[in-house]
Amino acid sequence: MAGLLADLARLESPSVVAASQGPVLDRLAGELRALGMRVRRLRGEASGGHLFAAPALPARPPACLPGRAPGGPRRAAQLLLGHCDTVWPLGMLAAMPVETRDGRLYGPGVYDMKGGLVQALFALRALRELRLEPPAVPLLFVNSDEEIGSGESTRWVRLLARRVRRVFVLEPSLGPDGRLKTGRKGVGQFTVTVRGRAAHAGLEPERGASAVLELSHVIQRLHALADPARGISVNVGVVSGGLRGNVVPPEARAVVDVRVLSEDDAPALEAAIRGLPPTLPGTRLEVTGAIDRPPLIATPANLALWCTAEAAARQLGLPLGHGTAGGASDGNTTSRTTATLDGLGAVGGGAHSVDEHVVLARMPERAALLVLLLLAPLAEAAAATAETEAAAANAQAEDEARRTGAEARSTGAGAGRSGA
Ligand SMILES: [Zn+2]
Repeated sequence: MAGLLADLARLESPSVVAASQGPVLDRLAGELRALGMRVRRLRGEASGGHLFAAPALPARPPACLPGRAPGGPRRAAQLLLGHCDTVWPLGMLAAMPVETRDGRLYGPGVYDMKGGLVQALFALRALRELRLEPPAVPLLFVNSDEEIGSGESTRWVRLLARRVRRVFVLEPSLGPDGRLKTGRKGVGQFTVTVRGRAAHAGLEPERGASAVLELSHVIQRLHALADPARGISVNVGVVSGGLRGNVVPPEARAVVDVRVLSEDDAPALEAAIRGLPPTLPGTRLEVTGAIDRPPLIATPANLALWCTAEAAARQLGLPLGHGTAGGASDGNTTSRTTATLDGLGAVGGGAHSVDEHVVLARMPERAALLVLLLLAPLAEAAAATAETEAAAANAQAEDEARRTGAEARSTGAGAGRSGA
């Protein structure tokens, strides 16, 4: 596993360099074909394209396998979902070489998420070599634009989510103990452009309207929209504007990242950002963007899948927890349609930072967990049994208690807020 992961990490694949994805997808395709999978490559336009793999059908299907004959009913399917792009630019290998130290493999993209892809390949290999027949056909989809919002691949992800009974997302796990992700915030990005009026800063500044000064008001207002207690965050991450020191700036711009824990908060937040009024006379605001990745919430179907994972981990003698992540993934998309369990990738740390690594000893056990999940009986289509409803309510209450507890600790606020 370590060898394959090191090979994949050495094939640098930043989302923004389309041509860099080919070698990674080629290597994955080769591994999948060796496992008897049919591989289809989907060409990208701006992105480096995607890969879809499904088991090759046997020439003569055994009678015990339902629906395999041409024209017969479609067999149920389940999806392993991953991405091969990374946030790292080409040439990062010089600063973060692929190497093993103290049982950890370091390198660009090993944790987010080439480690998860390797674990999935080994899980599929275990199914094949042990001649295990899952209750639903295992499919694999790998895109190459996840780190930049899955602009091109989302339609494929949606399409597949509608076709499958459940989705296992190979994103990194949560925390050093490798918790799964049963919740993710919804994410949006906005650009606020301020138009003002240029003038000479010394001769007649009164004729100008400073876009930069107006932007400073806008930034304050944007940050005031954050509500940590509700899980709403707002971050003005990039600002730009102005021409030179002696010109009243005619234009300025801010790029804003917003996150919501509850979908109910998205419309009001979007409306507040779009409706920001200008403060200075002579300036106006233009706002583009949206909250385009809805939150992944612990639906009854997702919670039922989590219970399956917990039981599988117990079978393996592994402790396993779950939690909510601040970032979004393609799991946010699939969860709209079908049961989704996220964070099934590698255990490690340092996502999007130069000490990105995976703990090698945890990789086989995570692959084993995937095998048991793929083999787990399918839940009834109407998954909302009394039991899963209760589990969902409990988990949400626990999550809420943990969240408000953590906030109370980190802000030093009293516990009185937690009932709000
Ligand atoms: Zn990722």
